Amino acid sequence: MSNVPVAVVTGANKGIGFAVVRALCKQFPGDVYLTARDPGRGQEAVAKLQGEGLRALFHQLDIDDLQSIRVLRDFLKETYGGLNVLVNNAGIAFKVHDTAPFAVQAEVTLKTNFFGTRNVCTELLPLVKPYGKVVNVSSMVSSSALGSCSQELQQKFRSDTITEDELVELMTKFVEDTKRSVHEKEGWPNTAYGVSKIGVTVLSRIQARMLNEKRKGDHILLNACCPGWVRTDMAGPKAPKSPDEGAETPVYLALLPSDADGPHGQFVSNKTVRTW
Ligand code: NAP
Repeated sequence: MSNVPVAVVTGANKGIGFAVVRALCKQFPGDVYLTARDPGRGQEAVAKLQGEGLRALFHQLDIDDLQSIRVLRDFLKETYGGLNVLVNNAGIAFKVHDTAPFAVQAEVTLKTNFFGTRNVCTELLPLVKPYGKVVNVSSMVSSSALGSCSQELQQKFRSDTITEDELVELMTKFVEDTKRSVHEKEGWPNTAYGVSKIGVTVLSRIQARMLNEKRKGDHILLNACCPGWVRTDMAGPKAPKSPDEGAETPVYLALLPSDADGPHGQFVSNKTVRTW
């Protein structure tokens, strides 16, 4: 088994995830795994970095597929005995003008952004080694969507005692409410992406709390972040930040020094902790 530190980035064949891998290849003292759901696109991305003189390794990972997540988990366990850095970057967003019914958009978006990210965390967090770092890429949209929720929902999502099961129940309820066209009456905002990212931010707060309760001595730091508005296939060409600039905050959180005791359980943008 290798003692080399290992970092894993999800959804890294393009966009912000790819830029995070590029930065980690330059700064992380260990093996960096570029993961992608499609091996062809993933290997192509690895080759592109190789062309820049950077060495990333590839492993397949489709966060919608529990089997795929477990294959990666077993590989990391057997090869490295765990992992040191996990960047949950993979995500999707429907385009504004997409004509798919809102209920379909809600189900598909939540499936990847919330439930997929949660499944990766469920399988990989137990493997994170002491002094490890976990970064969940959320969005400022999670904050704005939170502000558009009913007071009752806002209180639940800001709660310091909400459990993961309760969060899963709420995210499931959102999808069900959209199917019955009652989501607005039930206090939800009209954005599936926004709700999915509320889920990612709140999940991060819960997971950080669980680490405090169960693994305090391990000094693992886990945060949610917003990369900013970044020129990628998701956000389009008008966004002000380049992918490398978008990678700055996630990489800062992934490389916090081992003597740092924070940020932890925070929502961070532009390397600054934001009020949730
Ligand atoms: P992007 O260019 O569309 O890249 C998204 C990446 O996620 C792609 O590599 C995609 O793979 C991958 N992905 C999607 N579903 C996946 C799955 N089921 N399993 C594994 N990988 C999957 O988007 P981006 O702008 O770089 O976004 C990266 C993250 O930043 C997302 O979480 C996004 O919500 C967040 N974010 C972006 C912005 C922005 O302005 N761009 C702002 C705030 C937050 P394929 O190529 O196979 O589709």
